[in-house]
Amino acid sequence: MQWLYGMTRQTLREWLERQGEPAYRAEQIFQWLYKKRVGSIAEMTNLSRNLRDLLAQEFAMGTLAVVRKQVSQKDGTTKFLFALHDGDTIETVIMRHDYGISVCVSTQVGCKMGCKFCASTLGGLIRNLHAGEIVEQLVYCQRLLDTAGERVSSVVLMGSGEPLDNYDAAMGFVDIVTDAGGLMIGQRHITVSTVGLIPAIRRLADERRGVTLAVSLHAADDETRSRMMPVNKAYNIATLMEACQYYFRVTGRRISFEYALINGHNDSLDDARRLAELLRPIPCHVNLIPVNYVPERNLVRTPARQIQAFADELGKLGQTATVRREMGADIAAACGQLRAEHSGERSG
Ligand code: SF4
Repeated sequence: MQWLYGMTRQTLREWLERQGEPAYRAEQIFQWLYKKRVGSIAEMTNLSRNLRDLLAQEFAMGTLAVVRKQVSQKDGTTKFLFALHDGDTIETVIMRHDYGISVCVSTQVGCKMGCKFCASTLGGLIRNLHAGEIVEQLVYCQRLLDTAGERVSSVVLMGSGEPLDNYDAAMGFVDIVTDAGGLMIGQRHITVSTVGLIPAIRRLADERRGVTLAVSLHAADDETRSRMMPVNKAYNIATLMEACQYYFRVTGRRISFEYALINGHNDSLDDARRLAELLRPIPCHVNLIPVNYVPERNLVRTPARQIQAFADELGKLGQTATVRREMGADIAAACGQLRAEHSGERSG
């Protein structure tokens, strides 16, 4: 099966030419998909009936079905549990900030990275998403926002899955949603998160895509990080820092480091000092995340006062940091929680 939302304008043009259709039809189809945001091929009324039939035979469209939708009473965060065409489920979240609306998309069903504070990985990796399945999450959210005249201003690839473990689909997504004939999300408004897959970070740098790289760091020493994130045993902190420096050198883009604070694990003032020291050579920003409680892991968040003390210590040492506002805490908005509940992946 091919996904219509997974086609770049170029691949669509090539497909149309093979069907004996003029290339400009690709622009028309893109208009229907991303400007008018219709829900079906049948609605693309300036295409011939013949071409619409052909498209419908070759491509799937509208493959997401809402299983659950939760809206936070606190901050309007909207979380979807979508069923894919094969019944697998993923999560997508719309978040409202004072600077605009962002959408968090998933790139894999489940995840194999095994981060200890994350519910998405409880059942391992089920499968990669296709680029079209990632794009459709965003289109679905934008279509919903259209009803209130609102627009998605930024996208984060931070839902379930490690985006750089599904590199081609994740970058296919970036190519499609940044297209000037499509949703026109600026590359700088797309954040790709990673646990630190070194070869992929270097590839991303060499391709000079201009997206923001968000590295999930969560600890400043190997022992703590390996306990929390098994990937650290393959790529330790020193090699990760080298790759981050390379990314900055090649792209000129400042890196975001994500740091989830977990009570008694990585949240002491000594941890803050180690972190500031580690990041000193890299132009970057630190996002401090009050970790959402995941019952399966029994990890407890750091008290608010300690989070502020941690941020202040970083500030004193010259490291800029922001404490991330907690989004949708009343609706289990942490990565993977809704899906884990739905599929009974609780480990007890
Ligand atoms: S935090 Fe991200 S990379 Fe780590 S297990 Fe969860 S989904 Fe995977």
